[in-house]
Amino acid sequence: MERIGFIGLGIMGKPMAKNLLKAGFPLMVHDIVRPQVAELVGLGAEEAHSAKEVAQKCKTIITMLPNSPQVEEVLLGKEGVIEAASSGTLLIDMSSINPMSTMRISEEANKKGVRMLDAPVSGGEPGAIAGTLAIMVGGDKKDFEECRGILEKMGRSAVYVGKIGSGQTTKLVNQIIVALNLAAIAEGFVLGMKAGVDPQLIYEAIRGGLAGSTALEQKALKIFSGNFSPGFKIKLHVKDLTNALEAADSLGVPLFLTSTVNQMFKHLISMGEENNDHCSIIHFMEKVCGIEVRTKREAGEDEVPS
Ligand code: NAD
Repeated sequence: MERIGFIGLGIMGKPMAKNLLKAGFPLMVHDIVRPQVAELVGLGAEEAHSAKEVAQKCKTIITMLPNSPQVEEVLLGKEGVIEAASSGTLLIDMSSINPMSTMRISEEANKKGVRMLDAPVSGGEPGAIAGTLAIMVGGDKKDFEECRGILEKMGRSAVYVGKIGSGQTTKLVNQIIVALNLAAIAEGFVLGMKAGVDPQLIYEAIRGGLAGSTALEQKALKIFSGNFSPGFKIKLHVKDLTNALEAADSLGVPLFLTSTVNQMFKHLISMGEENNDHCSIIHFMEKVCGIEVRTKREAGEDEVPS
């Protein structure tokens, strides 16, 4: 099997890279945080000291970085991937970034004969660990078919959604739905708690009906136990909603609910919660109503992985 380069070994990238190693792909890894690289090297990956080294030694390169500026720096920057990559190299950017940035990067890549797919993911850290992510892919369909076998080692589904940038647009849709779902969970459970109904019983009563959702399954028990460790950080969700609002602006689409929920997240950031899991949006409603949605269990008991 041909060597794959993997850049960005954070909450998501590290378990995704581990799944590729487990599947038997030779892997070369890079991150500016060295202990994360060392962990993968301990499992059999090769270490690269720069993005440029990855580009010189790998023909398929995956990036899993925070946002557009980091992806642009790593791919387009001086000493970056595109400068050093040979013609025919396939870049698979799995970060969630602005679709406009994706299109800009892809245009520059194509000038050098480098191909690019945007392949953001949903499913959070548990999905990354279990290899059950939902992957949404934009770019040339032939390139998608070529790397489908790699993507399927990290995800339960890899769906081709159209031309370059379409994967990122799909991810924005996903992020809007998740954010609004979490805000609805926050409002609903604060109301239930204020009325004196046990949140655990509310959860058990509604999870099998239309209000049931993956967001409810992954976050309800986490909230009830007071565990707000990430998971998916509030600051990353603000990044995604801001990208959604920018994209919507350029298309003349008003996003009424998205802008409100983004303001709620931003308020929590100003209160020092930027690195909390996005389910801590419930803190906003809890503060407004002077109540906490917790069960009587000890924190950590019944906890679900974030
Ligand atoms: P993270 O901050 O944990 O990881 C990002 C990694 O990129 C870090 O290890 C960081 O050191 C590395 N990095 C940053 N700049 C770099 C550079 N110039 N060169 C090399 N490495 C660099 O973030 P994450 O939670 O893993 O998220 C990654 C992407 O996946 C984001 O776009 C996020 O929106 C998306 N995402 C996250 C989740 C989640 O639940 N965490 C779910 C779906 C999608």
